[in-house]
Amino acid sequence: MIEMETDTEKTSIFSLDFATLEAWLKDHKEPKFRAGQIFDWLYKKRVTSFEGMTNLSKDLRDKLANNFNLTTLKTLTKQEAKDGTIKFLFELHDGYSIETVVMRHDYGNSVCVTTQVGCRIGCTFCASTLGGLKRNLQAGEIVAQVLEAQRSLDEVEERVSSVVVMGIGEPFDNYDPLVAFLKTINHEKGLNIGARHITVSTSGIIPKIYDFANEKLQINFAISLHAPTAEIRSKLMPINKAHSIEKLMDAVRYYIDKTGRRITFEYGLFGGVNDQREHAEGLAKLIKGIKCHVNLIPVNDVLERDYVRTSKEDIYKFEKILKAHGVNVTIRREQGHDIDAACGQLRAKERKDETRG
Ligand code: SF4
Repeated sequence: MIEMETDTEKTSIFSLDFATLEAWLKDHKEPKFRAGQIFDWLYKKRVTSFEGMTNLSKDLRDKLANNFNLTTLKTLTKQEAKDGTIKFLFELHDGYSIETVVMRHDYGNSVCVTTQVGCRIGCTFCASTLGGLKRNLQAGEIVAQVLEAQRSLDEVEERVSSVVVMGIGEPFDNYDPLVAFLKTINHEKGLNIGARHITVSTSGIIPKIYDFANEKLQINFAISLHAPTAEIRSKLMPINKAHSIEKLMDAVRYYIDKTGRRITFEYGLFGGVNDQREHAEGLAKLIKGIKCHVNLIPVNDVLERDYVRTSKEDIYKFEKILKAHGVNVTIRREQGHDIDAACGQLRAKERKDETRG
């Protein structure tokens, strides 16, 4: 295992997006172009000490070492499924743990990152929210998940080609670090992952959808909708009581107007709750006229909850009804079945103390 320079009192250098690093350099009487060199060391050469940044002056290397750390993450477990999916359980400097999943597709490798330790949104189907929110991740801790995934893929000479922000936590509940993270992984001198290959998914914190629309990031945007009506959504996602489905649709329309981008609605199918004909009809009506795509997700049983999987037959029926209404729809392929790949399952199993309220 690679030894990192660690000092938990200092800010992680990975928390600084490119513009912030340039501003820091200016404040410390260093030329701006050094930011490009530093990013090159961090994200291309992936050095493990400031000393290793050999084209910087000794003075600047010392300044960096005095102000920042290069800590990444300690791997607690790494599981690999038969289909190639890799699931990491990482330990943070304060002992909390987070999950990161690498999914292997024909078209590339996708990393699913976590943004918070736990979550306070309280979706009733989700294991990740059982112990509430412990703390937000720093931007550098989110960036480090992608870096560690890349280190693992380095062993087979492959690269991370896309990133999905759909792991544990509500990204918009940790907004500024999320945006810094997105800028860093997208930056040509950072991990250089194209905006069209990055997806952020939210449970629907409405004011942040407006803020996000104004960020001018051309990334993919998904909303966890999961219901055609306020009543069903409130049952599955209590956030609906504070951020109503009607206002959510207004925010979605604003987002599409502002960015010109199509959005994705994630729709988890729960047996008998939201997976019948009337629900499909209701969903088609709700999203009529919205430039969108619907992703149907066959949801795993959650042991701690009473929800059951929708049968294959009902999944296809649901899809057929949406298609008949002209909705652009796909069914998400499941990966990593044999390694607890659904959100929060590994952490819930390994760290019972953290995930119980
Ligand atoms: S589904 Fe996402 S937003 Fe909802 S409780 Fe789980 S982690 Fe939080």
